[in-house]
Amino acid sequence: MSSLLVVGSVAFDTIHNHLGSHARILGGSATYASLAASQLAPVRLIGVVGKDFPREAVDMLRGRGIDTTGLEVANGDTFHWEGRYAEDLTSRTTIQTDLNVFADFEPKIPEPFRDSEFVMLGNIAPELQLHVLDQVRSPRLVIADTMNLWIDTALAALKELLSRVDILVINEEEARQLSGYHHPLAVAEALRALGPETVIVKRGEYGALLFLEEDIFCAPAYPLKTVADPTGAGDSFAGGFLGYLAQAGHDDLRQAVICGSAAASFCVQDVGIGALENLSREDIEDRIHEFRELTTF
Ligand code: AMP
Repeated sequence: MSSLLVVGSVAFDTIHNHLGSHARILGGSATYASLAASQLAPVRLIGVVGKDFPREAVDMLRGRGIDTTGLEVANGDTFHWEGRYAEDLTSRTTIQTDLNVFADFEPKIPEPFRDSEFVMLGNIAPELQLHVLDQVRSPRLVIADTMNLWIDTALAALKELLSRVDILVINEEEARQLSGYHHPLAVAEALRALGPETVIVKRGEYGALLFLEEDIFCAPAYPLKTVADPTGAGDSFAGGFLGYLAQAGHDDLRQAVICGSAAASFCVQDVGIGALENLSREDIEDRIHEFRELTTF
């Protein structure tokens, strides 16, 4: 089984949604992705937190088998993101982004991690994602996520990054923004022309679309009665997806998409990382089985 290097934000999130306000709870793209992958493959986490980051949170990550050697503790406060969801949870507005220790973050990959075969570049500034990639010797598979902020403010660096990644995971709205197209095939063709051989478009409650050169795969989202909090669903998807590939020893991307969808479905069932904190490998396997029942005809 190969190790998985995960870089991204480790954050305090303040989330306002239909259940109320949740102040300064543990979040961040790397946190969600690492937790989702941790029951599938050994995870090496790269990120930065401030002096205010609680010891218990690091212990919880370690308790899930995540190697936190690459989690730097810098002088200052931990990255903080605040967002408000619409009543139906289909959209959200960022109220505030406090970069704090992220402003001066220069990711340093510990020497023993530089041989990582699977690399997940979670959503952070593309310059930082590139900086991480420069330090990994010969990765087998590199997957990157991004967001509208970087399409608006760091497009040149994002395009350079895309020319060097194998798989882009992006939500539908941002995929349309980055490609300049609306319909799925045109979006995928334009994004693949930027570099990644494979593009995965996340469609929230409608699932995910996987585009390879000759193949398209369409995965539903797991049908749920209620959703507590969609924050981190995309990162959990990416963590489950790459975790599957790191542990499987083959590159069945369809299976990996279903595993990512299973991880995301757990994520949204509780606020913040609540559901991922206690997720077991069996939980994920059971849900993959349910996905199979759901989609076989
Ligand atoms: P998702 O819901 O999958 O898009 O990811 C939500 C996570 O992204 C939250 O836990 C935030 O802490 C994190 N996040 C929000 N904005 C940024 C940003 N500008 N850079 C890095 N991470 C961010």
